[in-house]
Amino acid sequence: EKGIDLKEVCDYKLAKDNELRFEVETGARVKLDLIDGSAELFGTELVRSRSYIFESGAKIAVFTWFGCSLRLTGKVEAAYVSKDTPMVIYLNTHAAIEQMRKVSEQKDTLGPRILVCGPQDVGKSTVGRLLINYAVRLGRKPTLIDLDVGQGGVSIPGTVGALTVERPADPVDGFDLKVPLVYHFGHTSPNGNIKLYEVLISRLADVFNAKCDFNKQVKHSGCIVNTCGWVKGQGYQCILHTAQSFEADVVLVLDSERLYNDLKRDLPDFVNVILQPKSPGVVERTREMRRDAREEKTKEYFYGPRKIYFPHAFDISFSEVQIFKIGAPALPDSCLPLGMEKEDTQTKLVPVAPGIDLVHHILSLSMAESLEENLVETNVAGFVVVTNVDPERQVFSVLSPAPRPLPRNYFLIMDLRFIDIHK
Ligand code: ADP
Repeated sequence: EKGIDLKEVCDYKLAKDNELRFEVETGARVKLDLIDGSAELFGTELVRSRSYIFESGAKIAVFTWFGCSLRLTGKVEAAYVSKDTPMVIYLNTHAAIEQMRKVSEQKDTLGPRILVCGPQDVGKSTVGRLLINYAVRLGRKPTLIDLDVGQGGVSIPGTVGALTVERPADPVDGFDLKVPLVYHFGHTSPNGNIKLYEVLISRLADVFNAKCDFNKQVKHSGCIVNTCGWVKGQGYQCILHTAQSFEADVVLVLDSERLYNDLKRDLPDFVNVILQPKSPGVVERTREMRRDAREEKTKEYFYGPRKIYFPHAFDISFSEVQIFKIGAPALPDSCLPLGMEKEDTQTKLVPVAPGIDLVHHILSLSMAESLEENLVETNVAGFVVVTNVDPERQVFSVLSPAPRPLPRNYFLIMDLRFIDIHK
């Protein structure tokens, strides 16, 4: 209970269909207790036997279908109870999706594939989490596909990935991320490399299809695809590409009539495009808050949830590994080698000579065992962050959640940097 201001205690009584919203003040921690009744947090049921402790900056909503009493201890920002929530709408959506799962089970066809899209800060990840949790609570094994490279739902930012979920998310720590399938992207917006982004989406769809082929439960449970908030221009094209790659049955559009109409026009008729409201509780984030959230997520990767672990620090010699960047600088068409398309350069592997400018960059360790494998489309084992480069000794120092030895030898460098200020 360190860091919790125990003098600040407030009880809330919620009538049915209400939710308590609160934010944890910067630098503070807040404890949540369910005193009476039943409640859920983004689709996970709370229990009375546990206190839930939230860290600085967390934005939380606790919803009750039947009424409950809650207690908050610690410094909160703007805690209030609201009865204005779209939860009934989301529950109905869940029920419709579950109906589709039943049909696919009976006929042994592919289960529902749902795309969640909309602009930034409309609660896409939260709705995705809710739908996954409701499915898991019914014994399903839905797969969460996360394409939001800005926030990183199944791994760190700068990646895309898939996670088949078997247990509801922990109210504090989220989904169990022990076994996600993660691919290196390297940037915080699809804009960083559109071609690569689309290649990875197709790859994830293939991998998910393959999984459906040998696991019936996964097949019938379907997937929820969380997209990123870039919905204009090429971002829109990415959404179309995603719907097509995953053969989406349902596209949930949150809070954007314009996007809804565009998608209705451009997607085939068998795709059910649905417009749903965002929750008034979703908090808009500034650029800085978004950056902070990214950093926090990365830090959690190295230090564990609630920073209870320490990463390993060790040196890697230049000769031990090879580092690549994906994508060569764009050349004007006239300079491209004959027969090469411009787009090819975006998925090209370019060797990176280790040097001082590696410092602070995050490196993804590819699962590839040889360069004959396509590194661009191979998943990654994990990440290290470079803390120092010593050209004289020909080594660089890293932080890594896993100890030596490295299981593989190929690194992919990210645009993303992480400056470790955890002391
Ligand atoms: P998006 O994926 O569209 O960017 P998120 O789902 O990440 O949006 O939601 C943005 C923030 O709002 C998150 O910090 C989330 O915890 C918070 N949030 C979501 N729903 C609610 C709600 N009903 N009340 C309060 N905060 C919420």
